[in-house]
Amino acid sequence: MTEIEQKIKEAFGNIDNLTKFKKRNKLQASYIEYDKFSDSNLHEGYFCYNCIYWINQGGGKCMLVDNEGPDVLGKTSSVIAPHGCCSQYEPNYDKLHDTRTPTAGLNIDTEKNKEKVTTADVV
Ligand code: SF4
Repeated sequence: MTEIEQKIKEAFGNIDNLTKFKKRNKLQASYIEYDKFSDSNLHEGYFCYNCIYWINQGGGKCMLVDNEGPDVLGKTSSVIAPHGCCSQYEPNYDKLHDTRTPTAGLNIDTEKNKEKVTTADVV
């Protein structure tokens, strides 16, 4: 099983029949689409276009999120737009081009990112 297949299986849970799966609505998924990103290079940045759950056939649908109804901005459309995004995003690295150089980020202490920062730490 590929990594993408594993993530899809985790998202759908252990249900036997996918037709029983109830999609989240756009509000539940915190779905948002800004028109100013519609001309963006969709291979760079976190967009539905390069999410593993996006389905292009049939005009912009998602395996997890219902394409009908209002998004968090109150905008109503009948599609999951390629330039949209939501809290369920999972990158599809076959489409997402990593723009970092091969050595970029090697000196970043990722453990530090896991430390909890509160307002008391900032002042
Ligand atoms: S980012 Fe969200 S709405 Fe867009 S394809 Fe992925 S799961 Fe669906």
